Amino acid sequence: MEKKIRKNMIVISVLIALITYICSSVTLYLTMMLSVDKEVRHISNQIIHILEDNPDALHSMTLFSESRITLIDEYGTVLFDSIKDSASLENHESRPELIQAKEKGIGRSLRFSTSLSTQTYYYAVHLDNGSTLRIATETHTLNDVFISGLIVSGAAMILIMILAAMYSKKLTENIIRPINQIDFSHPLKNQTYPELKPLLENLDRHDKMRKEFSANVSHELKTPLTSISGYAEIMANGLVKEEDIPTFSQKIYDESRNLFHRIEDIIRISKLDEADLPSQLEDIDYCAVIESILSNLEKQINEKNITVTIILPSVTGKGLISVAEEIFYNLIENAVKYNKYNGEIFIQLSDDTHNIYVKIKDTGIGISQEDLPRIYERFFRSDRSHSHTIEGSGLGLSIVKHGIALLKGEISVESKLNHGTTFHILLKKH
Ligand code: ADP
Repeated sequence: MEKKIRKNMIVISVLIALITYICSSVTLYLTMMLSVDKEVRHISNQIIHILEDNPDALHSMTLFSESRITLIDEYGTVLFDSIKDSASLENHESRPELIQAKEKGIGRSLRFSTSLSTQTYYYAVHLDNGSTLRIATETHTLNDVFISGLIVSGAAMILIMILAAMYSKKLTENIIRPINQIDFSHPLKNQTYPELKPLLENLDRHDKMRKEFSANVSHELKTPLTSISGYAEIMANGLVKEEDIPTFSQKIYDESRNLFHRIEDIIRISKLDEADLPSQLEDIDYCAVIESILSNLEKQINEKNITVTIILPSVTGKGLISVAEEIFYNLIENAVKYNKYNGEIFIQLSDDTHNIYVKIKDTGIGISQEDLPRIYERFFRSDRSHSHTIEGSGLGLSIVKHGIALLKGEISVESKLNHGTTFHILLKKH
């Protein structure tokens, strides 16, 4: 981590330094070129002014020795050159600054001589008598400007790299130290920087959930175990009449089945907690899944004389069959368990291009508005009075919620006490 921060910091600071270096070099070069242009314009104005009074004055003009002055006639023949003999110079008609000056009055051009490695700036003014006055001056190239700043910039960059490395070390220490010092048993008591607060709050919430879960698990497992050991103890002490032995054995059997189901539920929920959606998903025939669940629950449905209405068109999608079965089994089992005698269940399956929709509606005991937000909590059982008569661990809907989250679906519920409950499920076809 420290290495990564240091590397990034050095790269960023060097990049910033480089960009600054390039921008300032270009700015410097442009400023220099502007001042060169200003200077040659000034020189040409002065010369034009002098020529107006004395047309032959050019030959005595050595005061502008820094710049080369050339006078060219309208056919491109050099009439005067301050450096070379004008007779030895070739025709200048095709020079870009002269063409431009003829067209617009003023012409500029910049040429680089590879043989001399010099750059020359040309400024030409078209005069009233048809000839053109040209001032040429050597300038620094952009390269020269870059090279001249190289030593200072290089030194600055090395300094920046050292500072960045030192600062990143300090920064990493400041980030890591408080994390290493976290007291995990009391997350909210830690005094640290605000960005760690969500992490600490999460830790605290998970810690509370874990403690609550362990307490609930122990309680839920202890209850049937206490009954089992109580019945067995009475039998072992010979306190049960011969004819009551089958009843007691049945009670022990029922309680142990109950215990077995609870343990299974706990294992299921822990597995779902850890599960990740695999990349290879199975083909699911949702209609077949729901029909098979209904046939498994036939006995309970008939015992309560419940009427089941189904709208089950053929709907298929990708998912995990075991998880889909778990979700719909728990929801349909609840619709039966918490239904009234002669009640009704309505199940509707539908789909569109991307999603599958399932509606499971019952006319059962319903859930109070107060309990509704809590039904997906682990071990939550809505009405404690029902929990004596209706079997359950309070884990079913929690398993449903986890399963739906794993399949990246959605679930919502509406319910009215004594009227019934409706669950809406959305699953992706993937
Ligand atoms: P349980 O094992 O108790 O059925 P669940 O997690 O499946 O646990 O459900 C939690 C609680 O939500 C149940 O105890 C019950 O009070 C309530 N509940 C769930 N489904 C229904 C339903 N269809 N009608 C009425 N109450 C329901």
